[in-house]
Amino acid sequence: MEKKNLETTYNPKTFEKRIYKDWLEKGYFTPKVNKDKKPYTIVMPPPNITGKLHMGHALDLTLQDMLIRFKRMQGYEALWLPGEDHASIATEVKVESELLKQGLVKKEMGRELFLEKVYEWSEEYREKIRDQIKKLGSSCDFTREAFTMDDNLSLAVREVFVKLYNDGLIYKGNRITNWCPKCETALSDAEIEYVEQDGFFWHFKYPLTDGSGYVVIATTRPETMLGDTAVAVHPDDERFKDIVGKTVMLPLVNREIPIVADTYVDMEFGTGVVKITPAHDPNDFHVGERHHLDMIRILDNKGTVNELGGKYQGMDRYVARKAIIKDMEALGLLEKIEAHTHNVSTHDRCGTIIEPIISKQWYVAMKTLAGPAIEAVKSGKTNFVPERFDKTYFHWLENIQDWCISRQLWWGHRIPVYYCEECGEVIASVNEPKDCPKCHSRNLREEEDVLDTWFSSALWPFSTLGWPNETEDLKYFYPTSTLVTGYDIIPFWVMRMMFSGLYNMGEVPFDTVFIHGIVRDSEGRKMSKSLGNGVDPLLTIDEYGADALRFMLISGNAPGSDIRFYPERVEAARNFANKLWNASRFVLMNIDNDLIEANKDSENYSLADRWILSKVNNLIKEVTQNFEKFELGVALAKVYDFLWNELCDWYIELVKPVFYNGTDEEKGVSYRVIRDVLLKSLKLLHPTMPFITEEIYSYLGDNETIMLAAWPESDESYIDQNIENSMSGVIEAIKGIRNLRQEMAVPSKKKSTLYILPNKGMESAFEDSKDYLLKLAYAEEIVILKEDMKDQGNVSLVTSTARLYIPLLDLVDKDKELDRLSKEKEKLLDEIDRVEKKLNNERFMAKAKEAVVEEERAKGEKYKVMLQAVNERIDALN
Ligand SMILES: [Zn+2]
Ligand SMILES: [Zn+2]
Repeated sequence: MEKKNLETTYNPKTFEKRIYKDWLEKGYFTPKVNKDKKPYTIVMPPPNITGKLHMGHALDLTLQDMLIRFKRMQGYEALWLPGEDHASIATEVKVESELLKQGLVKKEMGRELFLEKVYEWSEEYREKIRDQIKKLGSSCDFTREAFTMDDNLSLAVREVFVKLYNDGLIYKGNRITNWCPKCETALSDAEIEYVEQDGFFWHFKYPLTDGSGYVVIATTRPETMLGDTAVAVHPDDERFKDIVGKTVMLPLVNREIPIVADTYVDMEFGTGVVKITPAHDPNDFHVGERHHLDMIRILDNKGTVNELGGKYQGMDRYVARKAIIKDMEALGLLEKIEAHTHNVSTHDRCGTIIEPIISKQWYVAMKTLAGPAIEAVKSGKTNFVPERFDKTYFHWLENIQDWCISRQLWWGHRIPVYYCEECGEVIASVNEPKDCPKCHSRNLREEEDVLDTWFSSALWPFSTLGWPNETEDLKYFYPTSTLVTGYDIIPFWVMRMMFSGLYNMGEVPFDTVFIHGIVRDSEGRKMSKSLGNGVDPLLTIDEYGADALRFMLISGNAPGSDIRFYPERVEAARNFANKLWNASRFVLMNIDNDLIEANKDSENYSLADRWILSKVNNLIKEVTQNFEKFELGVALAKVYDFLWNELCDWYIELVKPVFYNGTDEEKGVSYRVIRDVLLKSLKLLHPTMPFITEEIYSYLGDNETIMLAAWPESDESYIDQNIENSMSGVIEAIKGIRNLRQEMAVPSKKKSTLYILPNKGMESAFEDSKDYLLKLAYAEEIVILKEDMKDQGNVSLVTSTARLYIPLLDLVDKDKELDRLSKEKEKLLDEIDRVEKKLNNERFMAKAKEAVVEEERAKGEKYKVMLQAVNERIDALN
């Protein structure tokens, strides 16, 4: 027999997996190209295959899933396209060290075998990531899943490279690159992390060749002097006018190098003379170009001094540094050492200090590409949410340097360039050429380097949709709608997708960039391996369910702001789910579909019905608006408040008398209202808590799945501010009476008459609420007064909408109550005495902080007010 109601207890383990499997099998995540409907598209920022998903991913995915579920219910063909990134350098470093543990050395294995192993590894990890994405409830379309190393995406990479090359926007050049001596590869500026370090300025004397004295230069990297090919001064610097054009003898190396004048030199800084090492410093490189200086590279790829470093050959850069300082000192050429704190560039993956090294690398010329990308955001074709993040975007694009895209790695997209060994022709080609177009030689050599991993992710919004093929998907779903990502990734990814989209597609890749913050621990610290404060989303899901985790991540979330992870809030989210579960069970247990059907046209609504209908229609309006503004945290808070307070705490209580004692029509109407309101609020909650809402809906709803149910629309005709005011006035009165009775320790079984003098305009509200007051305010009779009561024997309560009187004194055991009150009075007097002694204690006052004193004073005030209330009650009883 089919079950008619939910399980007795909320246990997400029993249904989350089953529901997800069902959604997946029924193809609900897979939109169609449908000209009659509007598309809504999000491409998932592809997680790196290097590891497990962390809490940041869980947040990122939940936000995307909420938007997709919202739009899908609104009737869009909603595509959320998932995928993974091959993460070139990160993966290569990781697999290399894994293999080493098995005794396999990358270089000995050779390119082919190594790549085979990485592929195997990537398959395994992609499967894990997929599984994690699923556990969270993500409704992304796995039939369209992409991987940056897929054939089609690799084809896109080659197409774009060749297009850029043919347009003259890719070049191979000798440039100073950020070089990681540990990973032995070039890096882009975005992969550099600046770290403050204590260092020194070593002041060296360089003797003038003509014997007329010496110049003093200061350096933080003494070992680079082996590659010096000039010293420079500012052309306007009077101090050095006479020496420009002379030469100095470079110590240790004994190379005669010129003194040049260049405006790059800062006269105010240091000695006013700088050494020029064009092969190891980006600024010196430009000075070298201007003055046609030799470029002598003295370090190899491992950061070891090479054959051009004379007797220092073979030394690591830092060993050479020590030796050089010692030798300079021995020669009497070390003038002084000055302590100095400076920012050093390090590789963000391995922490190694970057060595600027001249090398031949591939570059994308950025100026031409950056212009339209800046313009697209300035003109509002693409908007940032929150808007302030456009500053980060503009800052990076306006100061952009050419993008170094070659990496000396194996894992990644091999640069589609071939060199003719006969005539030296360089051929960029999507397909491997048979022979040299110039000399027809077949002796071609393929470029060894691979591309920066971001080169392929920059194409993600269109390569995943089939580009360069003109697919139906591409035509329908591009440009995509919303990009959801963290602010830390704007320079790496967002701006590169922008200029790539504009350059290749002629259109921005997305309308909106919705930026979120990072997930910190409960103390506000970044979650990190070294602190060990990371929380595994999968363990949280195991314990509390995916819905509770999603709820926690979204509650209080504001666009662009970091959030903190509080385990107790996941628990609170689970408690909310529990409450919703129990309330739904109650509804399912009580409503009668035949009565609903028989009274489906009746409009004999009670005050409570009208109130909840007004509330829910307001709620729909507000939640929808907040979803559209990306204020998902606010939207959730509104649904939560409604479900917890209005629906569960009040409406269900208010209609219970009807449920148990109403006429058939009254019942039918209330059943219908409660079912409709619950269904609507479940739909509003669905994007945040997809599983529990689906499970409840499966017993209550009229569609096969809540996922494809229509997003509720607000019916303005139900919104009535007067009704809302009336009901909330009555609720305030009920709450007041309950508190009063509790304070006076009246058992709920003891009922009393309740006299009410409504404020002007509230008369009918209280008149219509007699049933609610009888039950919820424990009254045995309600008397609505026309004028104020003079009888002093009553306890009175003043609310914002009425004066209420209860002859409670009859109900309380007077002696017992007096006894209790006098004990309370004693306690309060003691407390007041303690506070006053403290505040009169000079030593305490001299030492205590202002806030502590203030706190004590506030305590004293509170006790005095309480004492007064107790005294009044004692007087009243006497
Ligand atoms: Zn490195
Ligand atoms: Zn040739």
